Amino acid sequence: MSVSSVHQPSDLHPANLEHVDGAHPELDRLRNVGIIAHIDAGKTTVTERILYLTGRIHRTGEVHDGQATMDYLPEERERGITITSAATFCEWQKYRLNLIDTPGHVDFTAEVERSLRILDGAVGIFCGVAGVEAQSETVWRQATRYSVPRIAFINKLDRNGADFAAAVESIQGKLNTCAVPIQWPIVKDGDVAGLIDLVEMVYYRFEDGEKDTVFHQETIPAVHLELAEVKRNKLLESVADFSDELMDRYLEGEEVEPALIHFALREGTLSGGIVPVLGGSALKHRGIHQLLGAICLYLPSPRNKPIVEGRRPGDEEHLIHIDAKKENSLCCLAFKTIADRNGDLTFVRVYSGVLHRGEQVWNPRIKKMERIGRLFRMHADSREPVEAAEAGDIVATIGTKDTVTGDTLCNRDEPIVLEAISFPETVVSMSIEPHSRTDSDRLSETLARLVKEDPTFNYHTDEETLEMIISGMGELHLEVIKDRLTREYKLNVVVGRPEVAYKQTLKQEVEVESRLIKQTGGHGQYAVVEMRMGPLSEDEKEDGGTFVFKESIVGGSVPREYFRPVESAVRNSMQKGGSLRFPFVGIKAELFDGAYHEVDSSEMAFELAARQAFDMAVRQAGTILMEPIVSFDIQAPDEYLGDVLDDLNTRRSQITSMELERGVRVLKGIVPLAETFRYATQLRSLTQGRGSYSFEPCRYSAVPQNIAEKVAKERRVRLETK
Ligand code: GDP
Repeated sequence: MSVSSVHQPSDLHPANLEHVDGAHPELDRLRNVGIIAHIDAGKTTVTERILYLTGRIHRTGEVHDGQATMDYLPEERERGITITSAATFCEWQKYRLNLIDTPGHVDFTAEVERSLRILDGAVGIFCGVAGVEAQSETVWRQATRYSVPRIAFINKLDRNGADFAAAVESIQGKLNTCAVPIQWPIVKDGDVAGLIDLVEMVYYRFEDGEKDTVFHQETIPAVHLELAEVKRNKLLESVADFSDELMDRYLEGEEVEPALIHFALREGTLSGGIVPVLGGSALKHRGIHQLLGAICLYLPSPRNKPIVEGRRPGDEEHLIHIDAKKENSLCCLAFKTIADRNGDLTFVRVYSGVLHRGEQVWNPRIKKMERIGRLFRMHADSREPVEAAEAGDIVATIGTKDTVTGDTLCNRDEPIVLEAISFPETVVSMSIEPHSRTDSDRLSETLARLVKEDPTFNYHTDEETLEMIISGMGELHLEVIKDRLTREYKLNVVVGRPEVAYKQTLKQEVEVESRLIKQTGGHGQYAVVEMRMGPLSEDEKEDGGTFVFKESIVGGSVPREYFRPVESAVRNSMQKGGSLRFPFVGIKAELFDGAYHEVDSSEMAFELAARQAFDMAVRQAGTILMEPIVSFDIQAPDEYLGDVLDDLNTRRSQITSMELERGVRVLKGIVPLAETFRYATQLRSLTQGRGSYSFEPCRYSAVPQNIAEKVAKERRVRLETK
């Protein structure tokens, strides 16, 4: 089914509240918008419909047929999920939109986070039946952290059991958000029959045309008038805080014209005080025109964004404000790289100045000029060449060689560095082996490419076992990588079981003396170190430290030049991870005494002595094995509670709350990551596919003794058999 509009919605056109000041009309009419939601809420379908409506695509694919345009990796089509942030450009009336389709699965939140960093506004999509699901909460919180103004679209109102009012309440309650409906959908016979526009006080009646869904603007049917009045009053009450004039009129009982409401809604949305809520059915093409209108009306342009800040390289003290002006010096952020046969595509957001095709730009991190070969506007997986991109815009370039995600690109004579994008450490790994020798070289090459694309993915060869290990943010993340290797790169590989990234720390503080004295014949080696080593206190860990080194040498018993070798030897030993090869963290080490020899001491001797000291400390203090813990949010219909709980009990979980909301149990708590493998399949079978969950990494905790022993034993067997 497709759409044509019989009514060009002039009422949605923001003529009198455009915030276009004449000097920057193009910029004022640019919207960099992310679409965020729980998996399956309908992000991809909504994006498809927007692209269709704005003329970027001429037929729409359905996600369940594996035909959606935005999901372009084969495994996305197959799994029906969106993994990469495909950026796409379209135009609507006088507005230009860069749409970023973000993934909804927690294993890919790094993708969501980096999109949020470069976007100006977002549309949260919710399912009209399920309301706020687990993952939407995670993503919503991330958007709050990045102060991204949002509007909400309640989708799937055509489905059995959909309830717009309840979904709005769930956004208000669970997301602690002032969600304000600006339309009220009228659902009849399992279809969205129309929308009451509470701002304009008109009715959009939907109709299946001969080949298109069409809508007509009409007066509000008498049966819905009372409802419309009540809901409009609610809307006025909510937005009055954002316009004094509106407040006065409302209190005086005077008529409030739509333009004033649009204005207050925009103010409220930009400040984060309000989330306008719309509804519809993306599948049936209902409500998408109105959603586009709201994106243009209420979401920010690049000029509305809080000022972006950067620093001159080497100057940590002074912040520089970067104004979104094309007249200013160039400043761009590379936020994504996609490996491509014709050269890597790097996505950049231009914050100020103009980026031209063919120009040389400065990358302060690598202190090198990079050539911007070609510039493109991206449309899912096709591209349109452009000559230049101005402040505020998002484009992709081909040609940069060493620029990676998080790098700033700027003018050489006015260098600037934006805050880099931070990514969490990987927590799950798997061994990976090519089927044949010939694939071996290609495998390393391909993995290197994937690492460039995905900063939360890594690989290395285990020094002990000589196995190739891939690591990432979760089981699904690594499975998707494996699928890409097979399909896209035609590599036959075998992967091992997923394993979590264990770490170790010392059990207690100990003092050790390590002596390295070899003075028989020739040039000798002499180094004595006395050290105190132990676990960091909670406060020290709070400061973000995983290792604190201190020296308290008096009287020069160890000369200053040997402090650094001692420190770096301890660091290296921690990284190596002792006999189990699990890295040590959360450790403090103090060098308090020692001895040296005028001739026989050297940096190397002190390094060796410190390494030995660390091994002694590990033996004396004993170790604690630590594992990653994730917080969970599991939602399932109440009738499955017993089964879900029984299963959670076998996973060493701790449940902190168990609320019942509209027949749905919301379970929150923590669980060791190692106990979550295959949970997606398990929850699906326990709840007949009706449960949803999200996991969010939260911390590392000690592994219980009996399990630690088992893990250590398995590890030893593995290290020995290789
Ligand atoms: P995403 O995972 O958030 O990108 O969600 P998708 O767009 O892939 O949609 C998930 C499933 O819901 C697909 O099978 C869609 O066809 C279906 N879907 C999307 N929007 C609607 C809607 O408005 N109504 C109904 N009934 N189904 C929808």
